[in-house]
Amino acid sequence: MTTFDAEAIVVGGGPAGSVTASLLAEAGHAVILLDKASFPRHKACSEYITPGGARSLAQLGVLAEVEAMGAHRVSGMRVVVPSGASWLSDFEGPHGARGVGLTRWKLDALLLDRARAAGVDVRERAHVRGVAAGADSGAVDLSLGGTRETLRARLIVGADGRASVVSRSLGLDAGRFFPRRTGLVAHYRNVPGLDRYGEMHVGPHGYAGLAPLEDGIANVAFVSDAAAAHDRSGSLEEYFEDGLRRLEQLWPRLAAAERVGPIRGVGPMAHQTTRAAGDGYLLVGDAAGFLDPFTGEGVSEALLGAILAGPVAAAALRGGVCSSRALEPYLRARRETFGRKRQVSWLVQGFIRNPALLGYAIPRMNRREELAATFAGVMGNVVPAGRALDPRFLARLLAP
Ligand SMILES: Cc1cc2nc3c(=O)[nH]c(=O)nc-3n(C[C@H](O)[C@H](O)[C@H](O)COP(=O)(O)OP(=O)(O)OC[C@H]3O[C@@H](n4cnc5c(N)ncnc54)[C@H](O)[C@@H]3O)c2cc1C
Repeated sequence: MTTFDAEAIVVGGGPAGSVTASLLAEAGHAVILLDKASFPRHKACSEYITPGGARSLAQLGVLAEVEAMGAHRVSGMRVVVPSGASWLSDFEGPHGARGVGLTRWKLDALLLDRARAAGVDVRERAHVRGVAAGADSGAVDLSLGGTRETLRARLIVGADGRASVVSRSLGLDAGRFFPRRTGLVAHYRNVPGLDRYGEMHVGPHGYAGLAPLEDGIANVAFVSDAAAAHDRSGSLEEYFEDGLRRLEQLWPRLAAAERVGPIRGVGPMAHQTTRAAGDGYLLVGDAAGFLDPFTGEGVSEALLGAILAGPVAAAALRGGVCSSRALEPYLRARRETFGRKRQVSWLVQGFIRNPALLGYAIPRMNRREELAATFAGVMGNVVPAGRALDPRFLARLLAP
């Protein structure tokens, strides 16, 4: 008979893993969470959470703590094109909703502590090398302090991010990942003119994101083609600064600010999988799929994905079988919850790949306030994404 080390093993202690583990432990299940890092840790991310993500934090009972840590209130995003034209994607004015800006250093440690407090056996510096899963049980091979060991559980949760070992070991990675972009981020202090709104500056060679965070810090990200970043002639630092310098509306403000800390990078960022659940496993957060940071989806999707996964996984564990059939409701919930927004994100990709197209859209969106406010609500995850996919809506929004 198989002996189990826990009922569920969660690989990854980012937002997706910590929240899934917490929900399972709160439902009375024995959970081990493994992360190769030691927390707090930095994560290459623009660190802006949509109003939809803030709503999930409230649902999980941690928004007050996030705010008490000094999270910056984010009322919207200003999108700027090279001509200087801009559109304010305002979700606070028309929708009364706001996002938050908080370093992942603080957010992820908070969520992991919450998992620990819920009874999860959290093991840091535990590097998972491979995973096997089946309807009756799964196994996780890991190394911890130079020692290799195998742990067994009924359910393996892959929450180990965009380069997921769980997804790869189980043969779930989709063949090609697109778009192939690299993201570089750094913290700055004293960026002039940054207040309640984040900013996205789109140029032909890439785009930059600015997000105000706690303690007067701002996150500055530069996203460009992975091949261009890989084939650069100079250092990563030179590539980052040169990319920002070419965004003429932004650079004078950054030149007046002070960079604090190193540049962190990830590339290529996209990750697609063929299935997010099956016999003995499920994937949450970036491990299940990630497109591009422009729409600021990632953390919100990780939190909401965990909120969807927790009850389905708990019911499967209670029933004693974590079969593909028992986990199917999670797949359905993901389709219903993320499917349309994913399509909107693909649509947005078309515009950011082509700043001239964005230059065409912006004055029209500024003229059509009500329609543009609906679109802002979709971007902030406070208006159903289906509204932006209605061809009549798009035709009215973008008509000459
Ligand atoms: C440049 C950039 C900017 C972004 N900006 C934003 C933004 O502004 N807003 C937003 O919402 N999202 C943004 N994202 C996306 C966001 O960072 C991710 O979607 C989010 O972190 C997903 O959370 P997660 O819990 O799924 O994975 P992660 O946060 O990546 O956590 C995965 C965890 O798994 C651990 N791990 C990985 N491999 C192993 C292993 N083999 N063994 C053990 N542990 C392992 C890691 O140490 C990590 O702690 C951005 C991403 C990038 C790259």
